[in-house]
Amino acid sequence: MSKTGIMGGTFDPIHYAHLLVAEECRRSLDIDRIIFIPTGMPPHKRDHAVSPAEDRYAMTLLATAGVAEFSVSRTEVDRRTPTHTIDTLREFLAEGIAPEDLYFITGLDAILSIETWVDYELLPSLCTLVTATRPGYDLRGIERLPQEIRKSLKVVEIPQVSISSTEIRERVRAGRGIRFLVPHLVETYIESAGLYREREGQEN
Ligand code: NAP
Repeated sequence: MSKTGIMGGTFDPIHYAHLLVAEECRRSLDIDRIIFIPTGMPPHKRDHAVSPAEDRYAMTLLATAGVAEFSVSRTEVDRRTPTHTIDTLREFLAEGIAPEDLYFITGLDAILSIETWVDYELLPSLCTLVTATRPGYDLRGIERLPQEIRKSLKVVEIPQVSISSTEIRERVRAGRGIRFLVPHLVETYIESAGLYREREGQEN
C-alpha cells in the first residue's frame, strides 16, 4: 500500500518553505504522495483575518502544479462547517487508506497547540503526526505534549529557510517584493487578486 501525506495549513499564502517541508517529509519518511489541504473555515481563527478559502486553494494549486507527487484537495474548502483535522483524516481512511499509511504534516507551532483540537487524543490512532523544525521554534515544547501525541510524532529536520506567510503578507502590505519567497505564479495571483494590501485584521 502506498503512503499518503496530508499537508495541512492555512496557506495564506503558500510559500517555498511549505513546499520544502512537504518534499523533505516525503523523502525522509518514504511517502509516495503529498496532498495539500488548505483549511476551510478554521475553527480557531477569526474569519476576517484569513483570506477567502478559494484564493488560498487557487494559490496552493498554482504552487504545486506540475509536481507529480503533489496534489491539492478541496475537502476542507468545501466543508460548510468549521474544519477539524479529525474529520479530514476520517475521510481519507474511509477511502481505504490504512492508518499506518497515513501521515499528517503540519507546522511545529500548530502541533504545540494540538491539545486545543477536537478529539486530539484520537489522532495518533488514525495517522502518524509529522512536524518540521523551523528557525525560532523551541523543540522543547514537544516535551510538554501528552505522551500519546509524543509517541506518534515524527520530527523532520528541514534546511533552515525562514519564510513565513505572515512575513509575506506584511511585505505585500508594505509594498515590498516577494519574488523568490513564493512561486512566480503565486506572486502573480496575489498581485492580480489584490491580496494582503489592507491592514492585518481588515477584510481583503
Ligand atoms: P497555520 O496558521 O497554517 O500554521 C501555523 C504555523 O505552522 C505557522 O507558523 C505556519 O507557517 C506553519 N505551517 C503551517 N502549515 C505548515 C506545514 N504544513 N508545514 C510546515 N509549517 C506549516 O496553522 P493552523 O491554521 O493552526 O493549521 C495547521 C493545521 O492544523 C491545519 O491543517 C488545521 O486544519 C489543523 N488544525 C486543526 C484544528 C482542529 O482540528 N480543531 C485546530 C487547529 C489547527 P506559515 O504561517 O508560514 O504558514
